[in-house]
Amino acid sequence: MKPGLVIFFDVDNTLLDNDAVYAGLHERTAAALGPERDRRFWEIYNEVRAINDVVDIPAAIEQFQREFPGLPAAAELHRLVFDFPFAEVVFPTTPAAVAHAGALGLPAVLSDGDSRFQPHKISASGVAAMFDGRVVIRQHKELEFPQVEQLYPAGHYVMVDDKPRIHRALKARYGDTITTIMVCQGHYAAEDHDYHGADIVLEDIGELTSLTADELKRPAGAR
Ligand SMILES: [Mg+2]
Repeated sequence: MKPGLVIFFDVDNTLLDNDAVYAGLHERTAAALGPERDRRFWEIYNEVRAINDVVDIPAAIEQFQREFPGLPAAAELHRLVFDFPFAEVVFPTTPAAVAHAGALGLPAVLSDGDSRFQPHKISASGVAAMFDGRVVIRQHKELEFPQVEQLYPAGHYVMVDDKPRIHRALKARYGDTITTIMVCQGHYAAEDHDYHGADIVLEDIGELTSLTADELKRPAGAR
């Protein structure tokens, strides 16, 4: 039997402060590489992002190491990035939100990202454990939703995410079979104010604890 309700959570700036992760990573690489090489490293990061159409820090590190073979600081980069204290940037209200979702339906992580750094972040932060390991990572979740549905069949879906663009795309394609919840955390929420794809808008992930199963199952158009 299909579970009635599957509640997907994005990770970056939804469950943890990814803007803080990047601020911390910038500090770490700047200290290790010095300004010139640090600038080059983040340039490569953007080049990799443009070529692969996904953020891929390990690939950027490998490219940087090819450009600076024998540079001790380059060899250290992987450890610097992967050793980040990810558990410290989980939003304080995240555990309560996930627990509440677990009482109303089946919560799972649905994150965009690469296949090495992103799973590490989700595991090392403690987020994977909060979901009992239910973690799906895709390059473009809104385009790969049909495969995600196969993994988690449900009568109704909820997507909790900080990117207005994701809500617009999912809403346009899935209409009333999905409830889209925008969380106004992080830089995407500040840069893109077109929330028309979102059925529910929350300022903080913790506000999810005030929503009922009926509210999650009923998209805005049906209210
Ligand atoms: Mg996000």
